[in-house]
Amino acid sequence: MGPPLPSKRKRAAAHLRHHQLNEFDIIKRFFLAGRTGEGLKIGPGDDCAVVEVSGDEELLMTTDTLVEGVHFPNQSMPANLAYRSCATALSDIAAMGGRARWASLALTAPDFDEEWFESFVAGFKRALAIDSTSLIGGDLTRGPLSITWHITGTTTKNSAILRSGAQINDQIYVTGNLGGAAYALEFLQQESTHPSLGRYWSPIPRLDLARKIAFAATSCIDISDGFLADLSHILRASKVAATVDCDAIPSHGSLSELNRSQRLVHVLSGGDDYELCFTANPKHEAKLNEISQQCEVEISRVGTITESKQGPLIRSNEGEALSAAGYQHF
Ligand code: ADP
Ligand code: MG
Repeated sequence: MGPPLPSKRKRAAAHLRHHQLNEFDIIKRFFLAGRTGEGLKIGPGDDCAVVEVSGDEELLMTTDTLVEGVHFPNQSMPANLAYRSCATALSDIAAMGGRARWASLALTAPDFDEEWFESFVAGFKRALAIDSTSLIGGDLTRGPLSITWHITGTTTKNSAILRSGAQINDQIYVTGNLGGAAYALEFLQQESTHPSLGRYWSPIPRLDLARKIAFAATSCIDISDGFLADLSHILRASKVAATVDCDAIPSHGSLSELNRSQRLVHVLSGGDDYELCFTANPKHEAKLNEISQQCEVEISRVGTITESKQGPLIRSNEGEALSAAGYQHF
């Protein structure tokens, strides 16, 4: 197997580093110009684009590419790959509180292996079934293994949860638990088995839950790059700051074998869990607890939105600066 596989963002960042621009700088410099157009409500910069169509609904659109050896180990099991690639793409629709309606798959594969294709299809069908999403098309080419999903979802007009709506004194919530996928990556690299591996291969896009919390959520993002990194996207888009109670964030069960400091590194900076981080006014807390029980998914209050001032964007309860990039303090 190749080199270690850090989270998707960190891998992309490593490729781009020698150009002195990170992935976000490149997107900003080359792709954000001209992001207006008829019907375009939200262009690049959120989890999905939001497009106005006639009637009561808006379209949500998102694209995700995974490349063998970069985003997943060579020789990964096709069912795992297919499920994970599709589930993580669906997760961007969840982050907007939408319904995932239509999926298009662009697959580049090195050769035709019947068994591989059968497992691959079974894997992504399991993901598409979560929200009854239909496969509506795609593309098939020969070459190094690469998987691109384009998902189109819908929301009722003006109800997509954006990254930009967090308000001062809102509470910050996280679904499920964090850190397990990042921990699993360490074992995947060594080709060894570990109880955390399932957390990496089987993320659950929180579609149903997201739609239920949408009435209260002022902002939302799916945690693909790590809690601090993704929370900082919300904070920048909303022009606010945050205080976080690090110990209130539930960690995956497999992390109990680590000490607190190692555990927090995974929980705060490990990516790939695809849980949701959202903000809401505290008056909704009882209802959020009800939804949590109904969906059987933990919803934990982990911090507070504060006024944006000079200085760090995120602080711990103790006042320590928590850096989204390279969090190594504990
Ligand atoms: P996510 O992690 O939620 O899938 P990304 O971090 O991949 O989102 O992308 C950040 C934002 O930049 C998204 O809104 C995405 O649509 C946009 N983006 C990424 N690559 C491009 C590109 N080549 N052209 C235009 N927009 C892009
Ligand atoms: Mg996202």
